[in-house]
Amino acid sequence: MSGTYGDSTRSVKAVGSEPVPGGPIAPPPVPAAAYHLPPDEDDSLDSYGRRSNPTWRQLESAIATLEGASSALAFGSGMAAITSVLRTVAQPGHTLVVPADGYYQVRAYAHEFLEQRGVTVVQARCAEMCDAAAGADVVLAESPSNPGLDVVDLHHLAMTCRARGAMLVVDNTTATPLGQQPLSLGADLVVASATKALAGHHDVLAGYVAGSQPEVMALLERDRLLAGPILGAFEAWLVLRSIGSVGLRFERQCQNAAAVALMLRSHPAVRSVRYPGLPDDPSHAIASMQMRRFGGLVAVELADAQAVHDLVGRSALLVASTSFGGIHSSVDRRARWGDPVADGFARLSLGIEDTDDLLSDIEAALPRAGR
Ligand SMILES: *Cc1c(COP(=O)(O)O)cnc(C)c1O
Repeated sequence: MSGTYGDSTRSVKAVGSEPVPGGPIAPPPVPAAAYHLPPDEDDSLDSYGRRSNPTWRQLESAIATLEGASSALAFGSGMAAITSVLRTVAQPGHTLVVPADGYYQVRAYAHEFLEQRGVTVVQARCAEMCDAAAGADVVLAESPSNPGLDVVDLHHLAMTCRARGAMLVVDNTTATPLGQQPLSLGADLVVASATKALAGHHDVLAGYVAGSQPEVMALLERDRLLAGPILGAFEAWLVLRSIGSVGLRFERQCQNAAAVALMLRSHPAVRSVRYPGLPDDPSHAIASMQMRRFGGLVAVELADAQAVHDLVGRSALLVASTSFGGIHSSVDRRARWGDPVADGFARLSLGIEDTDDLLSDIEAALPRAGR
């Protein structure tokens, strides 16, 4: 029966505690470093806070439900989750494919740390992922890509990886599990930054890995125990609390992004717009096959850096901020961080404000015509 529930229903159910008369409906955080030890040789219970925590388990079960995974592991940030996966599955001698047009710090980690350990790192853009996968042992794909919002055909990529015996890891940060479920498309693992839309309030960093292969998940849990990139109990509780409302928030964010993308598409000051939900976007056909919602991000190119600064300066609703997925709408000019994009390229993250307010604010803040 629960398989037929919608995302909001599943999100709300996923964060409730067991119904005990007199007990709290919302589970409280358990900030424990150490637990009373059971008798010797019973290691099924919580013992030490780097190994396990009841609040993590609650969060992990909610995330696994949303991703359609058998299990999930919470980490201290998206990068903590991604780097744990990469150092665990990419062995010396392996070829690892990472996105050339995806999250930049993943490329930096692959080159600065994994290459030193004998991993061959290959960068591929979204459109080249399947070709690159044909020679790989591990493939990390990101779809839609951050910041360009290009889309990878995940099912096709998964089939290519399977034929080659390569492991496919998909970064599901921009889509969120409410937008797509990479495991159902054939991915071996999902990684994501929960800092973005899942937590959604610009106030906590977190990450996770979700999967359905017990041996791989056990290796990752072992890496988390030994390396210690753990999430604090209060942070886990904040993310859990946020998941209860992620269905509502994400629905509004997607609606706002679709409306803003449509408005920008015909605005004279805009050079180009990418949003996988626009019917004439180059990614729309693949996106429609694998995504249930197209996300809260819009990629836009204005004339130059100054045009982006002016947009933020004149708007009463947009905040200049890196990161995305929060309740406030925000703008990030990605060339500032070294992404391979034009100076006037901005990633817009639409928040949960009223759609009409955002449309009129952004329209009024844009220059009247191209400069
Ligand atoms: C932000 C982001 C990350 C890193 O997550 P943190 O929580 O900042 O460590 C990884 N991948 C993508 C696509 C991101 O947007």
